[in-house]
Formats: sequence, structure tokens, C-alpha cells
Amino acid sequence: MNNKIITNKILNWYDINKRELPWRKQVSSKKKQYYTLVSEFMLQQTQVATVIPYFKKFIKNIPNLETLANFDEKKLVKFWEGLGYYSRVRNLKKTAQIVINDFNKNIPSNYLELKSLPGIGDYTASAISAIAFNKPFIPLDGNIERVLKRYLYLKKEYQITKENLQEEKKIFGFSPRSSDYAQAIMELGALICKPNNPNCEKCPISEKCISYEKKDFILNKIKKKNKNKYYLLKVFKKNQKYLLIKNTQFNFLKNFDIFPMQEIIKPKKFDKDLNIKLSNMNMNIKIEYDNLDKLVTTPNWIDPKNLKDYTLPTFTKKIVNYLENHK
Ligand code: SF4
Repeated sequence: MNNKIITNKILNWYDINKRELPWRKQVSSKKKQYYTLVSEFMLQQTQVATVIPYFKKFIKNIPNLETLANFDEKKLVKFWEGLGYYSRVRNLKKTAQIVINDFNKNIPSNYLELKSLPGIGDYTASAISAIAFNKPFIPLDGNIERVLKRYLYLKKEYQITKENLQEEKKIFGFSPRSSDYAQAIMELGALICKPNNPNCEKCPISEKCISYEKKDFILNKIKKKNKNKYYLLKVFKKNQKYLLIKNTQFNFLKNFDIFPMQEIIKPKKFDKDLNIKLSNMNMNIKIEYDNLDKLVTTPNWIDPKNLKDYTLPTFTKKIVNYLENHK
């Protein structure tokens, strides 16, 4: 099947089968750019079904870039609560401010300019260029990657590196309807070439799909190793409340309330009390109770009984729960 045939088959399938998603509504081009920016930030590491209600609420309260750029940060984070990876919403606000001040209120359509904005990497820059500006990019998200790996039966370690997949994706070709086409391949992965039980009978490109022919749909991934890290965490307790501080020290959970802690580099011996996985870190944590003998900047005493009422990262909540269960 040549590229043009693949392109047409996928687009025809999309035109009939695409889902109605709130960021796919027919709106002005300015709104479409804003909707794409917000939805792409939300969709980083989060499923479509989870994002839909968050997106609707966000857009209802923060309908444009100008409002976003001036929105109170604490209230902004509230709209993100439950989506996790909070640095995304902070970067989204910074991006809005930069667009207002340096790009004359216009989200740039240029891939490199997009990539210069906070929170926008290779994938998001190509997704925004394609979806919002109809530029000929095919962003390699998890869905497109899966279709590609199965269609070409890419299994070996050297075949599934990012660099090789970027090369192999040329098989999809390009369409003048770049915005629809990028979304069409993603949609094919999301609805038909699903991680488990792909629905090949309904797939528009099954005819030449090697995985379908072999009836082998198992996907291989490059194995990522979680880094082992070690932290000594200090617990200060007063009137049954725990002291938290604003995290200005570590790159993870920046500006969130965490327990005071310090990293121990390559300890010879480390008796951990608990273990928490965060991003690509395997955090080994040792807990020590201590007395407060010096002033802490921006202290925040939290009552574990009201844990659900605080805007705290799951990481901190897990530690509070651990402490409450190990009194
Ligand atoms: S035929 Fe099946 S395995 Fe191949 S791309 Fe389509 S859904 Fe995926």
C-alpha cells in the first residue's frame, strides 16, 4: 500500500468515525489554537476520557489566553487537581504570559518557537503545529506509535527507538488536511488499534498490516530503568499537625508543599521506611521525627484529619497516610 492510499484510507475512516471531543468543536481559528494548547498540555500523561471534564471546566472559567496569563496561580492549580503533574499548569500559565508579551498575543505556529515555550517539548510542538495550524507534522504519541509498530511489525530494540520510529512514520505520508490527519492516526490508535484486543476487522489499513497477518499484536517497549534515590525526611509534629514547607529545593513537585527532606547521595547503608515511585524515580525514604528549633520559611501546618481538603501532591498525602498508620 503506498503512502497516498494509507493517508486516504485513514482520513476516510476518521471522517466517519471520529469522536466529538470538546477541543474539536468548530470554533474560530484563534479559539482553536487556544483549545489545542490547553488540551495538549492536559493530554500530556493523561487519557482523553479523564481530560474531557477538566478541559470543559477549565475553558468555561478561563476562556482565553489573556485570562489565563492573569489568573491567580493557586486558583489555577485547583482546576488541575486530580490530573497530577502540576508543573504542566504552571508552565501553561507561563506560556500564556510569554505569548501575550513576546508574541503579540498570537500562539506561534512555528515548531521551534513553540518548543521555546515552557512545558512544550518535541511532541507537543509538533501536535500544536499540526492540529492548530495545519502544518505537515505527524506527532508521535502513544497511539500513533502503536499503530506504526503493529503495522510494520517493529519489535526489535533498534527498531523501536524514538529516532527509528520518527523515520518509519514516513510510511503514513502527508495530507493537505494535516490537522485532521494527525488526529486521524491518533484516533485510529485510540479506537481501533487499542493496546489490548485491536479491532482489526474494522481497521482501514488491515490489508497490509504485518501484525494482523501474523496475528501477533504484542508490543515491545524500550525498558526504562527507574533511578534509585535516597531521602531523609524530617517530621515535625505540633498539636497533632504536621509541618510542610514549600518545595524550592528539588526539581520534582516544585513549589508544592512537601515534608522537609534532604537527598542522601550514594549511602553505604540505608534503612528505608517507605518507597514511593515518582516520575522515573524510585524514592527510598527514611523518616526521622525531630523538634523544631529554628524558624522555617513559609511553614504550613496541616491537620491529617482534614487531608482531603488540602491542595497537596499525592506524594505528600501518601507520606501523611504512612505516618498516621505508623504512630
Ligand atoms: S490491522 Fe490491527 S494491528 Fe494492524 S494497524 Fe489495524 S488495528 Fe492495528
